[in-house]
Amino acid sequence: MILKEYLKFCGVTNKDFAKRIGISPVSLSRYISGERLPEKEIILKISSLTDGAVNPDDFYFKPKIDNDNENINLNSISEIVKNIRNGSKKELAKTITLVESKLKKHQELVKKIFEKFKTNNKTIRIGVTGVPGVGKSTFIESIGLKLIQRNLKVAVLAIDPSSKETGGSILGDKTRMEKLSVHPKAFIRPSPSSGHLGGVAKKTYESMLCLEEAGYDVIFIETMGVGQAETAVHDMVDIFLVLLLPSGGDELQGIKKGIIELADLIVVNKADNDLQKAAEITQNEYKTALHISGKPKNGFEVEVLICSSLKSKGLEKIWDYIQVFINKKKKNHTFFSNRQSQLKEWMWNSIHQTVNEIINSDLPKNEFIKKIQLKVDDKKLSVFRATQLMCNFLLKNKF
Ligand code: GDP
Repeated sequence: MILKEYLKFCGVTNKDFAKRIGISPVSLSRYISGERLPEKEIILKISSLTDGAVNPDDFYFKPKIDNDNENINLNSISEIVKNIRNGSKKELAKTITLVESKLKKHQELVKKIFEKFKTNNKTIRIGVTGVPGVGKSTFIESIGLKLIQRNLKVAVLAIDPSSKETGGSILGDKTRMEKLSVHPKAFIRPSPSSGHLGGVAKKTYESMLCLEEAGYDVIFIETMGVGQAETAVHDMVDIFLVLLLPSGGDELQGIKKGIIELADLIVVNKADNDLQKAAEITQNEYKTALHISGKPKNGFEVEVLICSSLKSKGLEKIWDYIQVFINKKKKNHTFFSNRQSQLKEWMWNSIHQTVNEIINSDLPKNEFIKKIQLKVDDKKLSVFRATQLMCNFLLKNKF
C-alpha cells in the first residue's frame, strides 16, 4: 500500500505522521508525492510504523494499473444497482452470474457493485437441509407460496453437492418448485457447488447479499444434508432447519448426527395419510432425545414440529415459530452478533479464495516458480525449501 493510501485509510494527518518519524511535514509531502525517495532508515521506520502495510517496494514501484478496473464504467455500476433495487430479476440473475464467475474482470465488477450495497438486517435467512427425498423442495415451495400470500418476497438458493463431479447441477434435470419458480415475487437459483468449500460459501453468501439488495424478505438456502456444505450454510443463516422423514433413527435417514446438532428447528415432513402416525412418533422421539440431552442451542431449546408440505399442513406453525425465534434473537442481540460473525467469515473466505486463486492460476505461470518446480522434480531441491522459496516469492510479489 502506498503511504498516501495508508494515511487516508488510518485517518492519520501528514503532520502527525511526520512527527512520529521525526521529519518535517514538507519532507513527508515530497516522499508522498514521489518527488523524492526517502533514505533507507526512513523507509524502514515508515515500514515499521505502518506494521509493514507500507513496505520498501511501495517507494520504488508504481502501483500496478488494473486494466480490468479501467474498463469499468461507474455509471453502469449505479445503473446495475438501481435495476436490482427496482426488482429487475434479469439484472439480479446477471449479477449473481458475475458473483459466480472466476474471471478477474467479473470479480472487479462485483467488487464495485458490492461497494454500493447497503447492509440489510430486515431479511430472514433460513437454512434448510435434509436427505434427498425428504421433501425440501416441496416444503420450500409450499411455505414460500404461503409467505408470498402474506406479501413477502421469497428467494431460494439451492446448493447441490452432487454437481461437483459433473460440473453441472442436477437441479436442472428435475422440475422443482414449479409454482414458486414462475411467481413474480419469487426468485430461485441453484448456487455454485463445485470447487473449494470456502469458495462455495463465499459465493453463496454473496448471492444472498444480492437477493437482499433486491428486496427479498425471506431467503431459503437449501442443502442436501449429506455433504459438508451444511456447516457453511448454518454459519450464514439466522435459523437452520433440518427436515426429517417419519421414521426412527438418524442412521436410517442417512443424515449425519452432526447435522442434527446444527438444527435450530427440526421438522418432520410428510405427516399425512399413512405416515401421519409415524411422523408424530418421530416428533416425540426427537423431543425426548433433545430433552434428555438437555443442551439448549445458544440459549434456545430446539423445537420439533411436524408438517405435510404436500398438503400444506402445519406450515403456519413453522412460520410462527421462525418469527418468534428471530424476534427473540433480535431482542437478546444474538441476531446482530451472528450477522457480524457472518461478515467476518465472509471476509476470511474471500481472503482464502483470493490467495487460492493466486496459487492455482498466477503462480504456476511464473518462470521462477517453474524453475523451483523443475528442481524439485529433479530431486535437486527439497519440498521444504521449495515451499519456503515459493512463499517468500508470493509474499514479496504483488499479484
Ligand atoms: P427433496 O429431494 O428433499 O427436495 O424432496 P422433494 O421435495 O423433491 O420430494 C421428494 C418426494 O416426496 C416427492 O415425490 C414429493 O412429492 C414427496 N413429498 C414431499 N413432501 C411431502 C409430504 O409432505 N407428504 C408426502 N406424502 N409426500 C411428500
